[in-house]
This record gives sequence, C-alpha cells and structure tokens, in this order.
Amino acid sequence: MCIDDHALFLSSPSPAPRSEGAAGFRRLQLGGTTITALCDGHFALSVLDVLRGGETPMQALLERARLGDVVSSHVNAFLIEDGAHRVLVDAGAGDLQDATLGGMSAQLAAAGLHPEQIDTVLLTHLHPDHIGGLTRHGMAVFPRAVVHVPRAEAAFWLDEAGRDAVDASVRATFDHARQVLAPYMAEGRYRVFDPGASWGALTAEPLAGHTCGHTGYRLHTGEGDVVFCGDLFHVASVQLADPGVTVCYDSEPAQARRTRAAFLAQACRRGDLVAAAHAPFPGWGRLDVSGDGYAWRPLA
Ligand SMILES: [Zn+2]
Repeated sequence: MCIDDHALFLSSPSPAPRSEGAAGFRRLQLGGTTITALCDGHFALSVLDVLRGGETPMQALLERARLGDVVSSHVNAFLIEDGAHRVLVDAGAGDLQDATLGGMSAQLAAAGLHPEQIDTVLLTHLHPDHIGGLTRHGMAVFPRAVVHVPRAEAAFWLDEAGRDAVDASVRATFDHARQVLAPYMAEGRYRVFDPGASWGALTAEPLAGHTCGHTGYRLHTGEGDVVFCGDLFHVASVQLADPGVTVCYDSEPAQARRTRAAFLAQACRRGDLVAAAHAPFPGWGRLDVSGDGYAWRPLA
C-alpha cells in the first residue's frame, strides 16, 4: 500500500486482542481490508460557542437535532490493514488536550496491536486532537511509522513567520505541530505530499476550509469506497442538516462551507462509507438526503 521501506510487519507476537464489547475499538471487514475505529475519547463541546450560522436559524437546527447547549464530541482515529500494511489515519490527542482524550494507543493495544506494527500514518490536518498521540514525552510513539502530512498543512503550521503573525491563542497549535513531528523528522520518517498522492488503494483528496491543507483519504475496497474525512463536520446532526453551518475552528469558513457541501453531495450520490473524526464512535456511516440537507445513518 505504501511505498516506504519501513513497512514490514514485525514478527513479534501481538498482544492478545480483547473482544470489542464495551472496548473503544470496532472492526469492519471490507473485502480483504480491515478497518478498525479507535476511540481516542470525548470532550464537551459548547454548541452555541462553537457553531456558526448557516441558512437555518441555529436555534431551529438545535431543536430539530434535539441537542442541548453542550454535546459530547468524540475523537476517532482509524486503522487500515490490507494484509501488507497497517495505516493509521490520525492519531488522537495524546496529552495535548482534555484528560478525557488520549485513549487511542490504549485502544490499539486492546485491539491486539503494538505501535511498531504501524508502518504509515496519514494525517488529515495538524490540529492537536489529530496529532497529539504521535508522541509521548517527546518520543515517537510509533517507532517504525512514516508520517505523511499534506504539503499545504505543513507549510502553514510549521512556518515560523506565520506563527509569529497569529494571535497568541493560536500559537500553541503551531508549537504542538512542530514538537509532535520533530522526532519523526529527526529520524527521517516524515514526508509531505500533494493532493492526489496515493498509497496503494488510498488516495488523498483535498478538503480545504477547516484548515488550509485539510485532507481526506479515499480507500477503494472490493466493497465500495470508504472516505476518511477528518473534520469535515463536528456536530453531524446540525452540519449535515445545514452544511452551511461552520465551526469556530474553521480557518476559512466560506471554503469550509463549499467543501462540505460538495463532499456531502458526492458521498451521498456514490453511497460512500464516511469515516469521520468527530462523528459518534465508531464514527462511520452513510448519508441520506433529508430536507435541504442530509442525515447521518450510522453503520449498523
Ligand atoms: Zn478535530
């Protein structure tokens, strides 16, 4: 799947997998590919503070979605195994955010995997809840993985002058990106890529707006496509009903709106399975047309 040479499975025995049961991982078999959703945790999201209006008045959207002022938002990472490679899409928050996050590594172990068995990490963007799990105490958590970052994303968040130009409240995000990627860079296990890059059955698709280099990954399987869409939406019941609703974290709200509308229309038309970082765990589902927008149909 990936062309890098770090990619071989190790012969060391895996920890005995626990049953999925109540655990925070969930497996899905599609043809010869296994996808595992890994629950990093959840955090409280104040919808009135975070969401920004679209076409429909926010209060009406919240009532229709039966949401209170605060929702519990999940953070999901995904592992893709095709028998030759193990690819992680995003890595959770590690210890960069709330104490209720950072569970991705524990779920990986619960699923029976060692960190050294991951050969490729694909990042949707460089916000802390997607990269924090790459390091612990400044050390690489994944000792063999090559970390791939969208070029536009790296250019923005790793730019020293850019960091100095932004509001102080955003500087920590720049610092975290640099710190988390540093051990991988030092060991030659860091790559940037352009839109359209591919790793076997996976192809990068730009989904700019949430951040300038925000990127999704389309996986072709023998049983349809799966699209890992990162932060295309944060509150499914609101932002699918009205794709014009943005979040305060979107760096380019107008572009985020256009990107979301186009993505949702295509995913719905094609019947893609969508795997989202902030949809309720395990984060995968399909889209149905509903009114002027869409409804999230979690995969049974
Ligand atoms: Zn996020």
